[in-house]
Amino acid sequence: MTKIKSKKKFGQHFLINEELASDITKKLIFRDSIIEIGPGKGVLTKNLLAQKVSNLVVSEIDNDLVTYLSIRFPGLKIISGDILTLDFNKLFENKFSIIGNLPYNISSQIIFKILDNRDKILEFVIMLQKEVAERICSAYNKKSYGILSVLAQTYYDMSLSEKILPNNFEPPPRVDSCVIHAVRNDNIDIGIGYNKFKTIVKNCFQNRRKTLRNSLKNLNLPKEFTSSDIFSSRAEQLKLNDFIWLSKEINKINHEVRTNK
Ligand code: SAM
Repeated sequence: MTKIKSKKKFGQHFLINEELASDITKKLIFRDSIIEIGPGKGVLTKNLLAQKVSNLVVSEIDNDLVTYLSIRFPGLKIISGDILTLDFNKLFENKFSIIGNLPYNISSQIIFKILDNRDKILEFVIMLQKEVAERICSAYNKKSYGILSVLAQTYYDMSLSEKILPNNFEPPPRVDSCVIHAVRNDNIDIGIGYNKFKTIVKNCFQNRRKTLRNSLKNLNLPKEFTSSDIFSSRAEQLKLNDFIWLSKEINKINHEVRTNK
């Protein structure tokens, strides 16, 4: 088989630790329908196929790797193209899981896409840059707590692996990595639409050093409402339930909260 050179523009760092690859794939609980993002040369794919998952689809942007994978795994369903433009609804009628050692340069965009499709995605197991993984799983009252932490943890129960060093990859990335395992929780309807919730959370964090009273000035909320104690806090001091409560209250007062997806 032809030797595949890694391409920087696609964030290619191939996992070479076979034991780790096996451990990552074993984390998946829901195995009926799975999308693997960025299979590369197939180090995770090989394990998934050996574990006899029933409906595996892989999404790979690099045409050379698509050719390589189709030869290495005859019969594998490979979607050639950009995961960010893939319509998940056309792939599976049922709910599904996601797995992947992500291209780190687009990992936040992939998480936002997963959140947009949260009611179809039961679970995700993803490897990404340690700092980004820590932000997603961060507790409140920490610098790392932000928009992605609030949105992801509202809909998923998350756990974070130990750090994974660069020498587990070829070529080695410049950063450490971690695996997030996330399972959809019971928050189906939080009492406010997702896009409005996302917009309000983004507004709260737009200037982390400001109190909510200042960050949310553009929403023109009534003084009697913004005089309550919660508005003297900064966004990173709010727990998930505070964000849900606050967003619902704002939505009651201001039905015109404009969403920017
Ligand atoms: N899973 C393999 C492994 O662990 O060795 C490869 C991981 S590598 C960090 C990221 C993979 O994602 C590469 O194969 C790359 O070509 C692919 N990729 C990059 N951008 C992509 C995109 N927008 N859509 C789908 N795949 C993408």
